[in-house]
Amino acid sequence: MEKKTKILATVGPSSDSVDILEGMIRAGVNVFRLNFSHGSHEYHSQTFNNIKEAEKRVGKRVGILQDLCGPKIRVGKLKYDFELRQDDLVEFHIKPIEGEKTGEGRYRLSINQPQILSLLKVGELIYLYDGNIQTKVVETNDDFITAQVHNFGRLSSNKGVNFPNTKINIGVITEKDKSDLAWGVAHQVDFIAISFVQRKEDILYAKELLKQNGGNAHVFAKIEKFDAVENIDDILEASDGLMVARGDLGIEVPYYKVPSIQKSIIKKANAASKPIITATQMLLSMTEKETATRAEISDVANAVLDGTDAVMLSEESAIGKNPINVVETMSNTIKETEKIYNYNKFSNVAFFDETDVIASSTGMLAQRLDVKAIISITGSGKSAKKMARYRIKNDIYAVCHDERVARSLTIAWGIEPILVIEKSTLNGMLGATFTNALKSGWIDQEHTYILTAGYPAGIEGSTNFIRIVKKSEIDYLASLEA
Ligand code: PGA
Ligand code: MN
Repeated sequence: MEKKTKILATVGPSSDSVDILEGMIRAGVNVFRLNFSHGSHEYHSQTFNNIKEAEKRVGKRVGILQDLCGPKIRVGKLKYDFELRQDDLVEFHIKPIEGEKTGEGRYRLSINQPQILSLLKVGELIYLYDGNIQTKVVETNDDFITAQVHNFGRLSSNKGVNFPNTKINIGVITEKDKSDLAWGVAHQVDFIAISFVQRKEDILYAKELLKQNGGNAHVFAKIEKFDAVENIDDILEASDGLMVARGDLGIEVPYYKVPSIQKSIIKKANAASKPIITATQMLLSMTEKETATRAEISDVANAVLDGTDAVMLSEESAIGKNPINVVETMSNTIKETEKIYNYNKFSNVAFFDETDVIASSTGMLAQRLDVKAIISITGSGKSAKKMARYRIKNDIYAVCHDERVARSLTIAWGIEPILVIEKSTLNGMLGATFTNALKSGWIDQEHTYILTAGYPAGIEGSTNFIRIVKKSEIDYLASLEA
């Protein structure tokens, strides 16, 4: 395997053609993100088809993550830009109004989710323009709240608003998200990311909606609100994976807390064997330039060392100058960093169940016997993820019974979802696996391998079979029939 840490790349106007997408896959992309904050359904459908075409050309599974835009809170329309200065007063009105200046150092405006305003208390903060302008509530009444400006800034229509101290309890799935989610189900996207999650109920609700629509995508919680950080354990339990969404997170919590939150959340997700994505501004300067800054390269490397499953590209790959070069830069950084990676973390990880014991034993066996790869025949993908949890140095090839499961592993660290075979007798599955492995060349006859499986097939969490496969046995195993 070329690299263990996966790359998630956002598709946009600079990267939505089949040729560029193909180049990006060859350069190391494992999952593409469709960002539903922008673009029509027609646009995303075209992009989706182009990804499928590029995937076919390369002959490697790539996943698709649909990122729902969620309840982004914004300033309404302003008649003109506001030049806000320290100590100016801004009224946030509950009734929709066009923003305007009402007197010397006084302004009024409204926001797209006015119900939040009644929750605010004197002393709480309101950030405007993605945290660039900070204000503090000084007075409230039934019609509007008044906030005092802390620092200079120019505010224009539709800029983002954050409430870093107020639990806003706002529904996480908007009407637009519902229709986007139906699109995702119809296109069988592999992952759906939920923005601005605040508590586990938000994820449970998203899963319920998904089920009602007949979908089975894996649901990822974007951690980008201060209360999501407070409720992280419950949210992690309810989700199939997480994203450290550092863009909005860095506005919601003090900027200097983002690295420690990143590290702590990655650790928790690793312990639970749930994939985690580290996102935003990773190689941002490459949106305009051909090379990244030293700090950006270090950021990617450090996220890898923190134990993230995947690193994400946003503007860099969506609207950047050279998306393929961006992916190459990320891949090169990952590969070099993985040379000093702290693999084989068998100690200091808690055992939760029998599968954990089997997975760690398999990993240790793989080290001792110096096998070329572990082949995991996995019904739900769980046992392969449990092995990857120990950050095993050996390659892990997942053999699944269901294309959906195989695709769900595209985002998980260190796992290559290589093959889908039918559920069968143990001999039937061994025969099918080794016949394909020899034919497609993903194993050779020079090395030892380990194969794990659950038998009878199809019972989740039933991995109970560990087979050491010597090179002399591979032809025999390939000849087995059901
Ligand atoms: P976004 O999410 O790009 O959808 O805002 C990522 C982030 O906030 O970091
Ligand atoms: Mn965000």
